[in-house]
Amino acid sequence: MIRLEPAMLASLIAAGAEQVIASAPELTRLDQAIGDGDHGANMKRGCEAILSKLDAIAVLPTGQAIKSLGMTLVMTVGGASGPLYGSFFVAFGEAIAGGRGLPEDLAEIFAAGVAAVASRGRSRAGEKTMLDVLVPVLETLRDDTGRPDLLQRVRATAAESVKRTAPMLATKGRASFLGERSVGHIDPGARSSCVLIHAICTHLEAHS
Ligand code: ADP
Ligand code: MG
Repeated sequence: MIRLEPAMLASLIAAGAEQVIASAPELTRLDQAIGDGDHGANMKRGCEAILSKLDAIAVLPTGQAIKSLGMTLVMTVGGASGPLYGSFFVAFGEAIAGGRGLPEDLAEIFAAGVAAVASRGRSRAGEKTMLDVLVPVLETLRDDTGRPDLLQRVRATAAESVKRTAPMLATKGRASFLGERSVGHIDPGARSSCVLIHAICTHLEAHS
C-alpha cells in the first residue's frame, strides 16, 4: 500500500523532478525523432522551476502543494506538454484539496489528473501520447486490491506501456504531422510520464 506522509512530499517532488532532469537528453532524442526536439529542454525547465520553488511549495497542504506544482509546470514547461502535465497536477491537487485522501483514494485522484489531460488535449489512449502511459497506470491503480506489490505493478505497467507506443500511429500533437513516419518510435511524452512514475515508485519503495 502506498503511504504519503506530508513530510515526504518535498523529497518525493524533488526525486521526480531530478529524475526528469537527468532524462532530458533521452527525451530530447525521442522528440527529435518525431517532434521538434524540445521535450527534454521543456521538461527540464519546468522541473528546475519546481526545485527552485520547492521550499515554498512543500509547506502548503498536500492538495495545494500539488496544485501549485501544476501551475508552475503550466507557466514554465511550454510546448504541448506543459499545459497537459500542468492540468494533470492541478486536477490531482484539486481532488486532494476537495477531500479525497491518500493513499486510499489514489486511483480516483490519479483519474482526475488523467481526465484533465484528456480534456485539455482532446485526446485518449491509443493516439501515441503520454495518455498511453497514464491510462494503463490508472487501470493498474484501479486493480489494486490492497496487494503489497502495487508499486512493482505500476512500474511494470509504465515500462511496458512506453514500449507499446512505438508501433502506434500518432494522431495527436506534432508527431501526428508525420503520419505513418511516426510509427516505430517511442513517444517522448509517454517516456517522460514513465520516468516520473518510476522515480515516484522508487522513492516510495525506499521510504515506506
Ligand atoms: P511540443 O509537441 O509542443 O513540442 P513537447 O515536445 O514538450 O511539446 O511534448 C510532446 C509530447 O506531448 C508528446 O510526446 C505527447 O506525449 C504529448 N502530447 C502532445 N499533444 C498531446 C495531446 N493532445 N494529448 C496528450 N498528450 C499530448
Ligand atoms: Mg516537442
